[in-house]
Amino acid sequence: MKIYNTLSKSAEKFVPHNEKEVKMYTCGPTVYDYAHIGNLRTYIFEDILEKTLSYIGYDVKRVMNVTDVGHMTSDADTGDDKMLSGAKREGKSVYEIADFYTEAFFSDLLKLNIKKPDIIKKASDHIDQYINIISKLLEKGYAYTAGGNVYFDISKAKDYYKLSGKNEKDLLVGVRDDVEEDKNKRNPFDFGLWFTSSKFDNQALKWDSPWGTGYPGWHIECSGISIKYLGEYLDIHCGGVDNIFPHHTNEIAQSEAYLGHKWCNYWVHGEFLNDETGKMSKSKGEFLILSLLESKGYNPLVYRFFCLGSHYRKQLAFSYNSLDIASNSYDKLLNRIKNIKADDSEVDALKSKVYKDKFKAALEDDLNTSNALTILFEVIKDNDLNNNTKRYLIEDFDKVLSLDLLKDDNSIVDSEFISEIEALIAERNVAKNEKNYAKADEIRDCLLSMGVIISDGSEGTKYEIKDVA
Ligand code: AMP
Ligand code: ZN
Repeated sequence: MKIYNTLSKSAEKFVPHNEKEVKMYTCGPTVYDYAHIGNLRTYIFEDILEKTLSYIGYDVKRVMNVTDVGHMTSDADTGDDKMLSGAKREGKSVYEIADFYTEAFFSDLLKLNIKKPDIIKKASDHIDQYINIISKLLEKGYAYTAGGNVYFDISKAKDYYKLSGKNEKDLLVGVRDDVEEDKNKRNPFDFGLWFTSSKFDNQALKWDSPWGTGYPGWHIECSGISIKYLGEYLDIHCGGVDNIFPHHTNEIAQSEAYLGHKWCNYWVHGEFLNDETGKMSKSKGEFLILSLLESKGYNPLVYRFFCLGSHYRKQLAFSYNSLDIASNSYDKLLNRIKNIKADDSEVDALKSKVYKDKFKAALEDDLNTSNALTILFEVIKDNDLNNNTKRYLIEDFDKVLSLDLLKDDNSIVDSEFISEIEALIAERNVAKNEKNYAKADEIRDCLLSMGVIISDGSEGTKYEIKDVA
């Protein structure tokens, strides 16, 4: 399998540390609000990656964190505490906010057929692990205390900018004037590992530590949780492109300083979903969340289908118009599949292997999901494949695509419509038997006007629904 590695800036052959097992870490949500559909695009791509790895034969052990502490509105430790501002906004406690939005996140995963990672852990449950790592970083001289806080000294890290390919000079140009500089830091990009002199007096979550009562920085939680559950050697770490700097850059710096060796071999990042005005954000315009799409009548799997139509490393523009197009093709796809009825044909092992290999090759090519969908369409259209072979392949592909392709209740064709089609076909067969070809043709035209194409073969009359209004 080839996958694009942000670390080497190239598509690389994927080779995990263990031949059969893959250790995968994916950054989870900050649970102060609903995930927007941009966030969900990232979780869909990670789900496809995990399922592809399983599909090609690996055992995948995947871990995800839930951020309920330490994440500021700016990823660079500045601004307000996201959890606290969520709690204030809703007049609830930070715990209530965290529980509510964690459940909302799980419900989104379920609706989008995203497999829940094997291990999902709350950041606030692993304070001892962070304290251990921070103590070791201080001991090894990678961290320092200043103004009551503990910071990581990026000048001590080996090749700090290797993931982002940025440099300090360029980054400084991007620092906004209105962002208050933390005078405790030796270098502007040093980052907080532990804060005690919080600017938030009413910080809800605080713990004792060797450096005073306080709370961990955001970055340390992913290193801590990953190392605790996946060990010292990680195969794949994922997130959205905005995580490359500073979050993943800082994770690498502190993990490698702590472990004393390279930590993770493959860094895989998904591109952004943009709205009509550019970067999607919670503060401007309509807050695009999954339940909003549902309230407008969209099946959540239409959004999954929409995402799979484009490559995860390309920016994707969201509009209701493009979602409508996706919705139409998804409905047509399901209707065509619904016509592929199980019969007593035998699954053709040779032909299905050819298609499975093509499907696998598309996914192994840096997760080319749109090509994988093309293979699915080829299967459906292939007149040389019997129904059970088609159904077998569709079911097999759906292990990765997860579009409920063979789930009957998804069909927008109601049973009345199907009964009508079947009654007309039966009537036409009677007409044909009576050699009343004019009537048979009339019925064929009538079916066509309903968007139904029929074909007569040795196995009887088959039909295909092309267009459903
Ligand atoms: P957060 O809850 O803000 O920590 O973000 C959760 C995940 O969504 C992270 O992996 C981000 O990189 C990703 N993300 C944030 N905004 C977008 C977007 N507009 N499109 C795709 N992914 C995003
Ligand atoms: Zn993370």
